[in-house]
Amino acid sequence: MSELRFDDRVVVVTGAGAGLGRAYAHLFASRGAKVVVNDLGGGRHGDGSSSKAADTVVEEIKAKGGVAVADYNSVVEGEKIIKTALDNFGRVDVLINNAGILRDKSFARISDQDWDLVHLVHLKGSFKTTQAAFPVFKKQNYGRIIMTASNSGIYGNFGQANYSAAKMGLIGLANTIAIEGGRNNIHCNVIIPTAASRLTEDILPPDVFAELKPELIAPVVAYLCHESCEDNGVYIDSAAGWAGKYEIVRSKGTTLRNSKKEGVSIENVKNAWGRVTDMSGSHKLSSIEEATGTLLTALEEMEGTG
Ligand code: NAD
Repeated sequence: MSELRFDDRVVVVTGAGAGLGRAYAHLFASRGAKVVVNDLGGGRHGDGSSSKAADTVVEEIKAKGGVAVADYNSVVEGEKIIKTALDNFGRVDVLINNAGILRDKSFARISDQDWDLVHLVHLKGSFKTTQAAFPVFKKQNYGRIIMTASNSGIYGNFGQANYSAAKMGLIGLANTIAIEGGRNNIHCNVIIPTAASRLTEDILPPDVFAELKPELIAPVVAYLCHESCEDNGVYIDSAAGWAGKYEIVRSKGTTLRNSKKEGVSIENVKNAWGRVTDMSGSHKLSSIEEATGTLLTALEEMEGTG
């Protein structure tokens, strides 16, 4: 297979001063992309800022012969990050929303600030940066967007209610951007990574930590952002040189009443509960229209008996 390259593409990676973002920036640059290395350079809990993190990665890329520019803005001011791309390279083709912080507390102890800051960086930051890039993508009829979710959101994780909620919010955001962008060849996909970084150094066991190199996830993200990748709106789980796809499925379901003339009692629900929750015939519904369609079919079936 010929090498998959990103020549003449401009790639913005947020939070690229460390961890996963740094690995993404290096891989894209090594395949010919011009990279905006964004990083606020703050602490893991969203405190402080510094230009050092982004500068170091830019220097590393340049030392290897790549092209990169640093950007120190917070993703909350995403329009400034996209401006850095346009001012320096005149375009933007790929946006990786990767910047993140943690403010872990058990649910009862989460303060408004713990909630707001986590949502601000992950959810609003991804919204602002993507919204700034979107008109550019639309005009050129091309764009690739990555949202970064987490297994903490999918399964829940003790002490991460704020983070879990924000990360699942990004899946909802990606779902709709994939629909709105699809007609303009703008794809929005989700990466669900597990990697060794400062966010996980005290969470993962040391022997597992050593195997979870961010460099093993970067090719998955890069493929999702390549022009040859046709997927749009998918959620890809990846770690340690492994990748798999998630889908949200729904049970076949059942009507709770025998005809449209009848109401629904709590007892009807209890009686039908086994069929409501029976996942044996479950499947993925591809759109909100398909979901609505199944409701209309259920109504028609009741009509026949009404
Ligand atoms: P990391 O801390 O090494 O990197 C995150 C980077 O984002 C840091 O360099 C930080 O300075 C930067 N950043 C933080 N707030 C910012 C802001 N407001 N604006 C710009 N930059 C900002 O962490 P990582 O593990 O590489 O995480 C990258 C992403 O992957 C995060 O969104 C994280 O939630 C997600 N994630 C990581 C894991 C994992 O196992 N490491 C698992 C699930 C999800």
